[in-house]
Amino acid sequence: MELEPLRDGHGRLIGDVRVSVTDRCNFRCQYCMPAEGLPWLERAEILTFEEIARLVGLLAAMGVHDVRLTGGEPLVRREFPRLAAMIAAVPGVEDLSVTTNGFLLERDAEALVRAGVTRFNVSVDSLQQDRFFQLTRRDALPQVLRGLQHLATFPEAHPIKINAVAIREFTEEEVIPFAEFARRTPYEVRFIEFMPLDADHAWTPDQVLTGAEIRTAIDAVYPLEPEPREPHSTARVYRFADGLGKIGLINPVSEPFCADCNRIRLTADGRLRTCLFSLNETDLRTPMREGVADLELEEIIRTAVWRKELKHHVGEPGFIQPPRTMSAIGG
Ligand code: SAM
Ligand code: SF4
Repeated sequence: MELEPLRDGHGRLIGDVRVSVTDRCNFRCQYCMPAEGLPWLERAEILTFEEIARLVGLLAAMGVHDVRLTGGEPLVRREFPRLAAMIAAVPGVEDLSVTTNGFLLERDAEALVRAGVTRFNVSVDSLQQDRFFQLTRRDALPQVLRGLQHLATFPEAHPIKINAVAIREFTEEEVIPFAEFARRTPYEVRFIEFMPLDADHAWTPDQVLTGAEIRTAIDAVYPLEPEPREPHSTARVYRFADGLGKIGLINPVSEPFCADCNRIRLTADGRLRTCLFSLNETDLRTPMREGVADLELEEIIRTAVWRKELKHHVGEPGFIQPPRTMSAIGG
């Protein structure tokens, strides 16, 4: 069943949903969670697989064809590959991807590929074991790299992207090693500017290592050439001039891409968010559990999406950081 496309009040068509399947995580990345973790949602508060599939089905009928499963750490949700298979089977879902910290990929990569996940983003912030530990508070780099290697054996999963958060006074030392990694492996490394979604609300603009700085640093050693920009892509992609590999720069702070934003988010407890930095959320779980019909649920979604924020105000005077962290929103 095809419905009217989903559109916001600024004329943007929505084509992409990020679904957080859990707020829990087995890492404690400095920029995302406090060392002691967060008060987790109760099991009953989290959407069931059937509820997620219903919402994704409704969204897909409205033209939201790209679905990314994230968290928290999606692979810690019990039977996650079964959920992935359910979502892959939803009519209208054309692209199913997963963002993971990679810790459980050795265990789950095969099941996820078989389930129909075709694109994987694996977060790795450092290629040095001690610095990886410093940032994630887990001594897990060797296991993550083994997971990546295992994932790379499945041709269906390519290209694999690696995401590193770019933080001043940490990431500078990682830039060239990551560029070399991108040149000698099949992975596209992407640097994401550190955003004010940290648990400690300690973010300041000067802690962001910008995409422009990273580009200059890499270009000085390994010359880069820009690739044409794909519509709605958050990343500016560069290939190495000698043809060996690619680097992506995601610059939400220094070069916001809001004008072109086609995405919405669903939290693990069933709230619709129209921007990473939204201060308002729309509860979809309560009406669903009260037996709302699809027609009415569609109306609730349309009304919320109509009010999608024109742009974020990160770095501007008066910016208010959302109370939820990236882990609780679903990055
Ligand atoms: N646990 C999975 C992972 O780490 O890939 C999925 C969820 S995580 C919240 C999704 C992405 O958000 C990761 O790539 C992570 O590095 C990024 N992230 C988390 N907090 C961030 C922040 N404050 N600024 C920029 N990126 C952030
Ligand atoms: Fe967990 Fe991902 Fe947040 Fe790190 S970035 S604490 S792996 S949710």
